[in-house]
Amino acid sequence: MNTAINELIQYGLDCHLIQEDDVDYAVNLLMDLLQMNDFHKEEIISNRKECTPILEKMLNYAVEQGIIEDSIVEKDLFDTRLMNCLMPRPSEVVKTFHEHYLHSPQAATNYFYNLSTYSHYIRKDRTDLNIQFQKYYKYGNIDITINLSKPEKDPKDIAKAKLIKTSGYPKCLLCKENVGFSGDFQLPARQNHRIIPIDLNGAKYYLQYSPYVYYNEHCIVFNEEHISMVINEQTFQHLLSFVEQFPHYMLGSNADLPIVGGSILTHDHFQGGCYEFPIESADVVKTFYFATYPHMKIEILKWPLSTIRVTSANKDEIVRFASQTLQAWKHYSHPSLDIVSHTAETPHNTITPIARMKNQQYQMDLVLRNNRTSEKYPDGIFHPHQNLHHIKKKILV
Ligand SMILES: [Zn+2]
Repeated sequence: MNTAINELIQYGLDCHLIQEDDVDYAVNLLMDLLQMNDFHKEEIISNRKECTPILEKMLNYAVEQGIIEDSIVEKDLFDTRLMNCLMPRPSEVVKTFHEHYLHSPQAATNYFYNLSTYSHYIRKDRTDLNIQFQKYYKYGNIDITINLSKPEKDPKDIAKAKLIKTSGYPKCLLCKENVGFSGDFQLPARQNHRIIPIDLNGAKYYLQYSPYVYYNEHCIVFNEEHISMVINEQTFQHLLSFVEQFPHYMLGSNADLPIVGGSILTHDHFQGGCYEFPIESADVVKTFYFATYPHMKIEILKWPLSTIRVTSANKDEIVRFASQTLQAWKHYSHPSLDIVSHTAETPHNTITPIARMKNQQYQMDLVLRNNRTSEKYPDGIFHPHQNLHHIKKKILV
């Protein structure tokens, strides 16, 4: 185990998680977790930026010594504690991010994405298992991803999870209080998780990466408060404020209604990343210019979901148009097409907005959504029907 500690320390130095002055401190933390009482320094000649094989040695040792049980959940909790011994404090990460941002927004996100990978928060050995490819379909190249990175839970762990009485802290997986959280049989360990405060048009949000990496540099931007998802004028302002600060990233919001919305509707958040989704290169069916929006191009896309694209150098124009479209769509019905805006008091119409910078102009796609269900389609009329559920129940626009 002495060698493994030396190797992990060298890894921490190679990846700039720790500095020379941190070495004794980090060694002692690791010794404590591994219940060792002696250590000597060994020369490690390695610049491999990969910690999984070292962590595996430590996990096997911890199982042999009876420190943890041999289950995926216990191992995941323990190797996160091990990585915590190498982690910079949250404030140091924020400070370094801002130093990089002075060079460029890309330098800042590169630093933060690499940190999220080196810290093993993104378990690259697992996300690398995902299969991704493109296939031409009538709307253009579509992305197909087969997610193999989430490990199957051990029945023993599932049984233990049922015995846990949740305290309600943190309130959800997105809350900022997850930073440093030790995790349990229900919630993942997050000692190696870091977040960056971001100002979006005067509102406080945080940037983090998704541990599952569904696409390149898949990030999540979440509200400081645990408040419900909502699509309104501020949403459009926040999305544009983000892409203005990080022009190499796109940012979209899941809709705010069940079925067509995100899996976490209780915490206001957006999803983005350094990625060009197929919708971005969709063909244009029709282009409009309105005198009331003098700088803006309005396009209708050839896309399986009804989508309006607006492009302008003027941010306020886009916000104004998006808000007007949202209000109009919320009350729009077309019964012969099965579009009904309300059932009694329940609203069904909303928008999925996706923002990006395009040739120094702001661009936003407004995807019109309706979450109504029927007897024939209990999982949504305008949603993947049951014959496709073995592939996917949710649509990522
Ligand atoms: Zn929350």
